[in-house]
Amino acid sequence: MTYAQVSNLEENQEAVRIIQRLKTLEPEATCEDDFVLWDRAKDFLVFDRFGNQWIDFTSGIFVANTGHSHPRVKTAIQARLDRGHLFNYLYATEDKLRFIELLLELTPQKFNQVVLYATGSETNECALKLSRIHGQKINPHKVGIIGFEDAFHGKTLGSLMIGGKPKDKVWMPWHDPAIYHLPYPDYRRGIDETNGASFFKESIAALEAKGVKSESIAAVFMEPYQGWSACFFPKSYVQALASWAKRNQVLVIFDEVQSGFGRTGMWFAYEHFGVEADLVCCGKGISSSLPLSAVLGPREILNHAGVTSTHTGNVLSVAAGIGNLEVLHDEKLVERSNRLGAILLERLEKLQRKYPERIKFISSRGLLAGIHFGNKESNDLDVKTCSEIVRRCIASGLLLIKTNIGTIKIGPPLTIAQDALEEGLDILEEAVDVVLARSK
Ligand code: PMP
Repeated sequence: MTYAQVSNLEENQEAVRIIQRLKTLEPEATCEDDFVLWDRAKDFLVFDRFGNQWIDFTSGIFVANTGHSHPRVKTAIQARLDRGHLFNYLYATEDKLRFIELLLELTPQKFNQVVLYATGSETNECALKLSRIHGQKINPHKVGIIGFEDAFHGKTLGSLMIGGKPKDKVWMPWHDPAIYHLPYPDYRRGIDETNGASFFKESIAALEAKGVKSESIAAVFMEPYQGWSACFFPKSYVQALASWAKRNQVLVIFDEVQSGFGRTGMWFAYEHFGVEADLVCCGKGISSSLPLSAVLGPREILNHAGVTSTHTGNVLSVAAGIGNLEVLHDEKLVERSNRLGAILLERLEKLQRKYPERIKFISSRGLLAGIHFGNKESNDLDVKTCSEIVRRCIASGLLLIKTNIGTIKIGPPLTIAQDALEEGLDILEEAVDVVLARSK
């Protein structure tokens, strides 16, 4: 018996009708697929109500790190529901104290405050504000922000401006003149550990040559790996950046919204770089379920009156967060991410050896991976091939992340059974075989 069980999705008129109706009532971007009508999800499986079930290699977009509907997360939410407590605004709760203490145990000693939100975008908005407030205490012109080309930090105004995707910003009548974007140091530019440090120095020199002084920079925002590609910063690059930041009193802010809570085989992915963070933004896998996010850092930076929101630390979300952190600890899921990650990497490298001209790059750490597809003739990434592979996988019972930029991303729950991981990788390999055979 296999985990993936899907039959004739396209012929399921009822599901297609519901999805199509929803697609007319919501903006285009809000419906991920034409055939998957989620009814429930348990651990690493997603079910519709027509008897289909999918292996989930997405964690519902990097949220369900402890699996969907983990019994301990459910029980924690249920206990609050049964008590009759659904909302708390900024009033204190014992759970909030416990959750914040648990979060701080995971971070450096100098971190002693946390502000909670509902979404990842809000955390980056908050960090943007706090870093400029902090910078201006040092000197009134210290408001510059460095982000990276192709980076993603959310879709609200500030987070979008820090992000590095010009297409998403064409509607803006003006751009923040003190937000700068450095080129991302990845394989496409020939950057790796050997030249990471010198590439950082060149990038800063180029910025300075445009008249942007390092002492005018308040903060650098980094995703430890870029969302679309799963490519990590080279450690040498981040270490050079961190020492430049220290010399120039620049805050180093890691956006761990996607990469946190064991995803890459560390609690936080920035730990791979051996540097200190000044602020850490997180979300998604922080609760594995209900909307919850957080900015973590030292009191000197975080302690500001203007950072709260109506749903700051909602009581149900916080209950889910406590259950989730306990599961991550007790089930040793960070180690598990590493162990199963080795199997994932081995299989993907094998696939790349099979198609060296079409698979341009594999990036993988823990239970995170990105596969970059291209074609023989050019270095451009191949969006169409990725879409076809993902579509075929869905029809065969595997959910994958299609980035629409020529990469496929893999991020199963850290609880995934080894045989389900292997079955999902078999489905992927078969889809790659079929699609690549068709499109030479
Ligand atoms: N930062 C990163 C690195 C993300 O991956 C995301 C979401 N994909 C966000 C921020 C935004 O989070 P949210 O969608 O919860 O606002």
